[in-house]
Amino acid sequence: MAAAIIDGNAISAIINGETATAVSELLTKHNVRPGLAVILIGENPASKVYVGRKVKKCEELGIFSKKIELPAETSEKDVIAVIDGLNKDPHIHGILVQFPPPAHISEKAVIDAIDPRKDVDCFHPVNIGKMLIGERDGFFPCTPYGVMLLLEKSGVNPAGKHVVVLGRSNIVGKPMMALMVQKAKGADATVTVCHSGTKDLKAFTRQADILVAAIGKPCFVKAEMVKEGAVVIDVGINKIADPSSKTGSRLVGDVDYDQVAPIASMITPVPGGVGPMTIAVLMQNTVKACKASIAAS
Ligand code: NDP
Repeated sequence: MAAAIIDGNAISAIINGETATAVSELLTKHNVRPGLAVILIGENPASKVYVGRKVKKCEELGIFSKKIELPAETSEKDVIAVIDGLNKDPHIHGILVQFPPPAHISEKAVIDAIDPRKDVDCFHPVNIGKMLIGERDGFFPCTPYGVMLLLEKSGVNPAGKHVVVLGRSNIVGKPMMALMVQKAKGADATVTVCHSGTKDLKAFTRQADILVAAIGKPCFVKAEMVKEGAVVIDVGINKIADPSSKTGSRLVGDVDYDQVAPIASMITPVPGGVGPMTIAVLMQNTVKACKASIAAS
C-alpha cells in the first residue's frame, strides 16, 4: 500500500494562520508589530531566493520585515556593526543572516554577534544550549522543529519509537537528535544519529520507525534501507538536471521517493514537505521574540 503523504504545505498553512492571528493580537493589545531583519551578503542566487521567500511570508502574515543587502566584499567587522545596530533596534525582534556568507566572513563570528533574544534561526550557542537541556524559553531551530510539528500534526508520536537521523550538521541533524530525545510530550524517542563515518548504514536505517534524512545527497535513501511501515521524513533539497523540465532541472530530496513511498507508512514529498515548515517556524520564532520583548519591557 502506498504511503500517506505528509503535506507540509497544508500543515504550514495552519501554523502560518496561527501566527497571523498572533500578530494581529500583538497589534491590537500592545500596538507592536513583530519585526524580522534579514541580512543577505553577496549575490548567491539560491540565498536570494530563500531571502525573497522569507520576506514575502512576513508580508503575508503582517510581520514587518527589513531586508538588508550587503555587497559580497563587505568586511566581517562591517557585517557585525550592522548586526549591532539591529540588536539595538526596538522595531526588530528577530535577526537572520542568510548563510552561507562569503568565505572571508566567519559564520561563528556572525552567529555570536546576534543578541540571543533575537536569534530566531536558533543558531546561537545560548539557544542551542537551552534546547539541549530542555528549556523552552529560547527558540527552536527552524527545520528540526518543523519536522517535530509535521509529525505532531500528522498524528505521529515519536515516544518510544526508534528515530534514526541521517546527518549530523549543526543546523539539522544534531538539533533533530536533541529535540527527539527530550523527555517531553511529542518527543521521548530513542535516537540514533548516522553520518559519513557510520559503518553499515543500512543496518541502522532499517531499524528506524521514523527515518529523518538530512544528508544533501539526491535520492540516497533506497527501498532496501527502509523498514516496511516506517515514517520517512525527507529534509533534503537537491537540484538535479532534468532535460524534460522547462528549467532543465528539478528538486529532489535525499530519499528516492518512488522507491520508498510504496514501503513507508507515511512520507514527506520534496518539494512540499519539510521546506515550508522551516519558514513557518521562523515566523513563529519572530512572534515569540516579540512577545518576550514585550514581557521584558
Ligand atoms: P550538511 O552538508 O551540513 O550535512 C550533511 C550531513 O550528512 C553530514 O553530517 C554528513 O556526515 C552526512 N553525510 C553526507 N554523506 C553521507 C553518507 N553518504 N552517509 C552518511 N552520512 C552522510 O547538510 P545540511 O544538514 O545542512 O542539509 C542536509 C540536507 O537538507 C541538504 O539537502 C539541504 O539542502 C537540506 N536542508 C533543507 C532545509 C529545509 O528547509 N527543508 C533546511 C536545511 C537543509 P559528516 O558529518 O560525517 O560529514
